[in-house]
Amino acid sequence: MKLLEDRILKDGVVLSGGVLKVDGFLNHRLDVPFFDELAKEFYRLFGNSDVNKILTVEASGIGLACITALRFGCPVVFAKKSRTKNVTGGIYTAPVFSFTHGEPYEIMVSEAYLGPSDRVLIIDDFLAMGEALRGLRKICEDAGAYVVGAGIAIEKAFQPGGKSLRESGLRVESLARIESMDPEKGITFCR
Ligand code: 5GP
Repeated sequence: MKLLEDRILKDGVVLSGGVLKVDGFLNHRLDVPFFDELAKEFYRLFGNSDVNKILTVEASGIGLACITALRFGCPVVFAKKSRTKNVTGGIYTAPVFSFTHGEPYEIMVSEAYLGPSDRVLIIDDFLAMGEALRGLRKICEDAGAYVVGAGIAIEKAFQPGGKSLRESGLRVESLARIESMDPEKGITFCR
């Protein structure tokens, strides 16, 4: 999606260690009208898949998931990363290894909010190693929910997550796919 690629080139900062900082519009300051442009594209891609639930993981996926949910007219469920007191009753859990923090954590969704009648679109800001997506997919499987696919804003295609998830049969649609990035040489996109 050219709009997103141009925005990444304009506002993204490539850090060492393969991390792209997009705090100016996606991860810290949220450009909500811009999110709606991404949401429209997700709707164009998945609008005929009878999605009735959007699933993401806190925190950075929530904003984009909510604007996308407005297009689909369905609720958002976000997986929590810590077991707060207000998570009561049964929960689905999955282990996830965080690329940005370099350590594992557990994600969880209450059994009350996901089940066999759900057709789930997973939305997230980034796809890198695929850990977050794998965890969300496991939670859907445990809940008996059907995953129609995953809508990702930025895929770092030089990392293996997207390839292995597609090979495993998941429909993954990424709006910008980064082929390479380097603090000095800049960013190139997959064509
Ligand atoms: P994965 O589980 O696919 O390795 O990584 C996905 C998650 O890690 C995303 O939800 C995102 O929060 C974070 N992430 C991975 N790589 C980057 C990156 O280069 N920049 C930013 N801002 N977040 C990233």
